[in-house]
Amino acid sequence: MEYCKKCVYPLNSAVELKIDSEGVCSGCRYFEEMDQINWGERKEILAKLLEPFRDSGAAYDCVIPVSGGKDSHYQTYLIKEVFGLKPLLVTFNHICSPLIGLKNMANIVERFGVDHVRFSPNPVLVKKLMEYTLKKRGDACWFCQGGVVTVPIQTAVQYKIPLIIWGEHGWSHLAGKNKLSEMVEFSEEERTKLFMRGLTVEEVLRDNPGITRRDMSWLEYPTSDEVEAVGVKGIYLGNYIRWAQKELTEFVIEKFGFTTRPKARTYNTYADVDCHLCSGTNDYLKYLKFGYGRTTDHASQDIREGRITRKEGIQLVKKYDPARPEDLDTFLDELDLTEETLMHIIEPFRDPNVWEKREDGTWVRRPSADIDPSIDASGAEEIEKRLGFVKNWKSEEVDPNWYF
Ligand SMILES: [Zn+2]
Repeated sequence: MEYCKKCVYPLNSAVELKIDSEGVCSGCRYFEEMDQINWGERKEILAKLLEPFRDSGAAYDCVIPVSGGKDSHYQTYLIKEVFGLKPLLVTFNHICSPLIGLKNMANIVERFGVDHVRFSPNPVLVKKLMEYTLKKRGDACWFCQGGVVTVPIQTAVQYKIPLIIWGEHGWSHLAGKNKLSEMVEFSEEERTKLFMRGLTVEEVLRDNPGITRRDMSWLEYPTSDEVEAVGVKGIYLGNYIRWAQKELTEFVIEKFGFTTRPKARTYNTYADVDCHLCSGTNDYLKYLKFGYGRTTDHASQDIREGRITRKEGIQLVKKYDPARPEDLDTFLDELDLTEETLMHIIEPFRDPNVWEKREDGTWVRRPSADIDPSIDASGAEEIEKRLGFVKNWKSEEVDPNWYF
């Protein structure tokens, strides 16, 4: 397995990632480009772009899709307090919110004094979809990836709001899918290809005769006539404001009381506060398929921003990426699966370059997939202490109620 020479990303990344002739990945190149950008100039471009939307006569100037996490706090702060627009906050309820995630969402609405629409899909259908996509793609979160990018545009069309303001462009920030110079905007194509991974509502309906088109209405993209009539477009703040995750999180902790949450599969308590699957079971499935997980994402970011060395990143990855997620039992319970059945379901999706099956039926990582056999997890605690993702965190049991 080839790994980036600067960070800890493998070439078989679940997101589109390239490694260039110097052995450096597109995600690391994106961070290099971040250092070249004149951010003052970009902020002025944003101010000019937003100007025509302010007090446009409609009930709201823009939609901000929010999950209740650190980025949601920062987006709302920027748009409401720095640029003075009147946003409508829109949340897709993925039904996997820890209580801390819900408290953070309430915190945003109260602190900033904003209107908020929260769409909750039928949880019985959601569990059916989770089981279906788990078996079809080895991924339980397809419904959420789709809902998160579809419900905000449906809401924008419904309320006749022509602008949607996203945070960072996640695929670029993580893996350098687009360059900053491209100033990429939200598109239906990205929504279908990247977020929904090419699996369409039509295919879901074909495979599941018990599910109707009306059941799936929250995953239907508005027609091009509807989008054009309102003139909806979606921009990413990460193209205009330097999206430095750790600093912006500490800013919203100190200024607005954002609460963080420790997890079993990463040292980063600031990320994935709003969903227990993102750094829990769904991330564990990614590890079982591709051989890496959330700590690879987080360590790569900390390496790129100069907080740790690559060796230290590898120590953290080896400690956390294989760990059992804290929400696995809840997940198995909700979907009425045993751990053995889950392992059986995931088998065909395991990357044979990373995993091999022993004669006794157990799976082991191939030595050739080890990023550096001379480095192990010892000393990881010291690195974590120094990194200090410890501000304002609260520990809690995973909420067993899968709806609110
Ligand atoms: Zn890299």
